[in-house]
Amino acid sequence: MTEKEQVAELAKRGFAAKLFAGTSGNLSIYDPETGRMYITASGVRYEGMTAQDVMVITLDGAVLEGPHKPSSEWRMHAAVYRAYPELRAVVHTHSPYATAFAVCNEPIPASLIEMYFFLGGDVPCAPYATPGTDAVGEGAVPLLKDRGGCLLANHGVLAVGATPEQAYLRAEYIEDAAKIYALAKTVGTPVHLDGLA
Ligand code: 13P
Ligand code: ZN
Repeated sequence: MTEKEQVAELAKRGFAAKLFAGTSGNLSIYDPETGRMYITASGVRYEGMTAQDVMVITLDGAVLEGPHKPSSEWRMHAAVYRAYPELRAVVHTHSPYATAFAVCNEPIPASLIEMYFFLGGDVPCAPYATPGTDAVGEGAVPLLKDRGGCLLANHGVLAVGATPEQAYLRAEYIEDAAKIYALAKTVGTPVHLDGLA
């Protein structure tokens, strides 16, 4: 599969899984050897998305290929790739349970073993920043050290990976962890987990 096909496939999968709603969220793959970032287009619906809709841009936002405008969050994606050269994929969602924590400006506490296996522990929450600005990445990037993702206050989720599958899986686990934690709060008092030991 080409990078463009991978981006379109994950976008459709994420929409079917309700990680994305409407045209919110975006995702990208970066190839450091060519300097090409393959990113979803801005405001294009996910259902009918094809590889031809995927934009190719540089880390500076210059459009190399594609018929649309690149995602308005391309700066946040570029900031992640600049800061962490081992990362090759970014998935940004507004998935509902995780975004509920973001709306409360609260981290998702480490409370499940999967959170350590797949996410590195809790899911911290970056301060609010105007969507589409450099400030979104500036607030989020420091939180990604030793973590598979973070929340963006009053906005959504940022999941990262060394592969597209890893970034997508982490976006799924962030939503799952938020859903289980929210459910646990309705059942009783969640117990936090300080590591796997
Ligand atoms: P784009 O459609 O421009 O990618 O924007 C969606 C989004 O989630 C903005 O934060
Ligand atoms: Zn967003």
